[in-house]
Amino acid sequence: MACYLSHLECTECGKMLPADKLIGVSRCCGKVLFARYDLEELGSNLDRDRLAERPGDMWRFAELLPLADAADAISLGEGGTPLLHLRKLGAMLGLRRLFIKDEGVNPTGTFKARGIAAAISKACELGATGFTLPSAGNAAGAALAYCARGGMKLQVFMPRDAPESNKKECCLAGAQLNLVDGLIGEAGRLSAAVAKEHGFFDLATLKEPYRAEGKKTMGMEVALQLGWTLPDLIIYPTGGGTGLIGMHKGFEELLALGWVEGRMPRFASIQSSGCQPIVKAFAAGRSVAEPWLDVQTAIDGLRVPSAFADYLILRVLRESGGTAVAVDDTETVGAMYELAATEGIIACPEGAATLVGCKRLIDDGMIDADETVVLMNTGSGYKYMHLVGE
Ligand SMILES: *Cc1c(COP(=O)(O)O)cnc(C)c1O
Ligand SMILES: [Zn+2]
Repeated sequence: MACYLSHLECTECGKMLPADKLIGVSRCCGKVLFARYDLEELGSNLDRDRLAERPGDMWRFAELLPLADAADAISLGEGGTPLLHLRKLGAMLGLRRLFIKDEGVNPTGTFKARGIAAAISKACELGATGFTLPSAGNAAGAALAYCARGGMKLQVFMPRDAPESNKKECCLAGAQLNLVDGLIGEAGRLSAAVAKEHGFFDLATLKEPYRAEGKKTMGMEVALQLGWTLPDLIIYPTGGGTGLIGMHKGFEELLALGWVEGRMPRFASIQSSGCQPIVKAFAAGRSVAEPWLDVQTAIDGLRVPSAFADYLILRVLRESGGTAVAVDDTETVGAMYELAATEGIIACPEGAATLVGCKRLIDDGMIDADETVVLMNTGSGYKYMHLVGE
């Protein structure tokens, strides 16, 4: 399969860089780098209908991914997750076309598999042999699986109070786990320092260009599953924002290719009321977020007080006509029960938070009854049984 990756682009100033070396953030601005493709060439060589005939994992979108040869991907079969119509919940909420993208069936149980598979595969192609990674839990779970499969070294930096299931994944796969006193930001500082010291590549959220590429395939899959149409609204539980930024980028590419028509979906960011830097910044009309100082939430994926790509998240929300909503942990855990009892979906709390957010948006008159709405269930509830009482 041909590779159409053409260059990297600084998301701050637009400067172009070659994509032939291992690189983290942009040298010009120290900001997020986006991978850019020769979409014109791609579009003239590939028909979208060919993708539907391929195996269903995320490498179906190989031409829109950065690997020189997708056959070299370090893969566990990530992607190809169901888009489920929530008929009962939708009827209760007055929405005819309410869907959930169930990322819980990915390898290691979360959508982190997509981003990590893309990033590790590409870094390997460019010569990396070892990695560091700060993680609230699930990114580590994914990274250790892919590093084991690819035969690479990995050092993980995780807050001491991360879920037991995530720590145990590290034990299982034999990755070096460093427990950190503090939050994800502190883990990030240690991860970067150790990477520098050992010549490892740091996989921190959006501090390298390719995790977002893996995650954009979630959006491309949604479009394909909707018969190459775009939904009206994506409701996304937002921590570091990779999935939201990635999906938006994926939709932009599909629109540029002419593979879908119409308008960019609106994006709604859901955060926890105990850690809502993006919600506050969006409400204040700001283009960057203040760090959240007093983090009070048990929803691990949302415990990100300061997102490196805050400016990109806020840009997506604003340009798409979207919004940001904070929800309470107790309601979120309640929504885990509701999703399981009404639709049989064992969702992670982050995913369940999108249902709470959806109800809020309906109450605020921000969703029409005939709109196509997609809740992003970013992971499996089986990693979070400690939140469920008997
Ligand atoms: C990491 C994570 C999130 C947050 O994802 P971002 O793309 O970093 O915003 C949400 N849910 C789960 C289950 C996660 O592991
Ligand atoms: Zn720049």
